[in-house]
Amino acid sequence: MTIAVYPGSFDPVTNGHLDIAQRAAAIFEELIIAVYDRPLKDLLFNTKERVEMWEKAIDDMPNVRIKPYPGLTVDFARQVGAQVIVRGLRASADFDYEFDMALMNKSLAPELEMVYLVGKLEYLFVSSSRLKEVAILGVDIGHLVPKHVAIAMREKLRRVQGGLE
Ligand code: ADP
Repeated sequence: MTIAVYPGSFDPVTNGHLDIAQRAAAIFEELIIAVYDRPLKDLLFNTKERVEMWEKAIDDMPNVRIKPYPGLTVDFARQVGAQVIVRGLRASADFDYEFDMALMNKSLAPELEMVYLVGKLEYLFVSSSRLKEVAILGVDIGHLVPKHVAIAMREKLRRVQGGLE
């Protein structure tokens, strides 16, 4: 059985992420979406919130599970018995970053394969950071994220901007 891990910060999950997860779930027998607990960037949503948003997004995908992880992706992949790490590619900038990362992962865990899926055309411009940037300025991002994520985003921004978080 081939188990694949799809790792990321997912702050928050977007339709671009969901598309990659759906396509990976159609290729591999089991897909584990790995929500990185401690990325080196400022996050809007905490780990529990990012995990819950994914759980709601995949409730119709029986071979997909969500798990948070705190350390190296290759260590997590080994722990869950995965053979493959899946990532999405949007542009050459993603490729440059991923190329180095793939070589590093290969040197750390030669038995794991990195598999890259090119993003769907209509979501190639979608990144969590760009969505947060425009949502803060009042743009409706409802067509670019699952419905429950758009609602969570509005509520989070209301709380953050109101000084409640
Ligand atoms: P990171 O893992 O760098 O924190 P993200 O959590 O935003 O980044 O994304 C996780 C993975 O999903 C990465 O492989 C990223 O390239 C990919 N990805 C993000 N947005 C899209 C998109 N719109 N289309 C395809 N892949 C995407």
